[in-house]
Amino acid sequence: HAKAAGKNNYQYYAGLMNSASLDKLELQNDLHRAVAAGDFELYYQPVVDLSTRRVVSVEALVRWFHPQRGNIRPEVFVPLAEEAGLIVGVGNWVLNEACMQMAEWRREGVALQRIAVNISALQFSEGGLLRHIINALESSGLPSHCLGLEITESLLMEDVSYTLGMLADLKAMDVNVSIDDFGTGYSSMSYLKQFPIDHLKIDRSFIANVLDSEQDKAITTAIIAMAKSFDLSVIAEGVESEQQALYLEELGCDSCQGYLYGKPMSAEDISRLLEDSAPLDRQLQKVIRGE
Ligand code: C2E
Ligand code: MG
Ligand code: MG
Ligand code: MG
Repeated sequence: HAKAAGKNNYQYYAGLMNSASLDKLELQNDLHRAVAAGDFELYYQPVVDLSTRRVVSVEALVRWFHPQRGNIRPEVFVPLAEEAGLIVGVGNWVLNEACMQMAEWRREGVALQRIAVNISALQFSEGGLLRHIINALESSGLPSHCLGLEITESLLMEDVSYTLGMLADLKAMDVNVSIDDFGTGYSSMSYLKQFPIDHLKIDRSFIANVLDSEQDKAITTAIIAMAKSFDLSVIAEGVESEQQALYLEELGCDSCQGYLYGKPMSAEDISRLLEDSAPLDRQLQKVIRGE
């Protein structure tokens, strides 16, 4: 068949591809354009201190608004961007934008301690990350202690000696580091103890049923106890109800993030949310009403 297809090779191979891989190719093409055109936006989700119920930091979450397909989830396009060699471009855009926005909030007097940025596997292992971080901090004027990175557990374990070197450099720069989606990968406790990190983020899959599932209760309790003994602060992800927040507080969890305290939102909505010192539920009502 290949011979019969002659010069029309592309059509021949395209014919063999299922629609899923064609779709992927098309999206990757669109991604190239999106990176050049800057068709991304950052949303920010509040992280709330459980003892004060105040917003202490935000996590930056990238959004791609595709001209035809609408909003494409980062879980879909981040792996595509990695495969197409575009993730460093996207990741640097995210780093710069997050630092600029956080510097602006600080100038406005918005009381936030930190902004956290997700770092993908390729971005972490690519040699230029520290340089890119320094550039983003310098061009925005943001102090390094106001920036945090979120790195997944499995990524940190991939090459432990490389990880130890990177984490030591980040610590020396005074950049915060969190382990993201904790509990879903494999980590060796003995390595974890050696990693100079600041926070553990409990994956939201454990939080979803933490009130009903004995297993999830046990896992969450164990993660919090372990984090305490390593002197790490714990953030629970995906907190959707007040009962979950109360239960997590009881277990000694430090802060939480989830729809209970706000979905990822625009920078203006964050400013509005933090503009006054009213209790969080009233601040959220204001944002919802669009005041
Ligand atoms: P993540 O870092 O674990 O981010 C948390 C995800 O959980 C976000 O999804 C957020 O919208 C969602 N979430 C937060 N609270 C709740 C809740 O109460 N209930 C439920 N059901 N979901 C909640 P999102 O924004 O779609 O991002 C998905 C993932 O994509 C992120 O997971 C992160 O791994 C990745 N990602 C996002 N932005 C970036 C980025 O700028 N760079 C890289 N490399 N990855 C990113
Ligand atoms: Mg994250
Ligand atoms: Mg996470
Ligand atoms: Mg996740």
